[in-house]
Amino acid sequence: MIPPPLYRARRVEDLPLEEILSRFKAVLFDVDNTVVPHHGTKMPTPVWEWMRSLIKSGIVVALASNATQERVHKLETLFSTEAFVAMKPFPWRIRQWLRTHGLQPKEVLLVGDQVMTDHLATLTTGISSALVDPLTKRDFILTQWISRPIERLIMKGWRGREEKG
Ligand SMILES: [Mg+2]
Repeated sequence: MIPPPLYRARRVEDLPLEEILSRFKAVLFDVDNTVVPHHGTKMPTPVWEWMRSLIKSGIVVALASNATQERVHKLETLFSTEAFVAMKPFPWRIRQWLRTHGLQPKEVLLVGDQVMTDHLATLTTGISSALVDPLTKRDFILTQWISRPIERLIMKGWRGREEKG
C-alpha cells in the first residue's frame, strides 16, 4: 500500500502556506500541470504569488521537472527560479539537489500533480509530498494511458481508508 501524501489540495494556492513555512526549509515544484499547463509557459497568477510568498519568507524554492534539459533551462530563465531535471520517481537527482543545498529530506516538500512520478519520488527520497489536481486534462501520452489509470486506483484506495478511518 502506498502511503497518502501529507497534503492534498485542488490547487497550489490552496495549500496551507503558514504551516508549510513553519515546517519546511525548501519546497520543490513539479512543473507541467502543477505550476504551468502541460507544456505551457504561463504560470497562473495565484500560483506565482504563492511561490513568491515562499521565496520572500526565505524558503528555498526550485523546479524539479521531468522535462528535457532544454525545456528545464528555458523554465529556469523564464521564472528566474532554480530548475533541474529530476528524473522522478527515481531518487538520485533529488538527493543530489538536497546535498548541494545541505538539506535533510524531512526539511523538504515536493508539490506535484502525479502519483507515479511526484508522489513516488517523495517516497524514494524521504521528502514530504503535496499532491494537487492537474491544471489541465492534457498529459504526456504515456501518462494518460498508463500512469493516470494506476493513479486513480491508488487514490481510490486512499479515499477508502479516509472513509473507514
Ligand atoms: Mg506534472
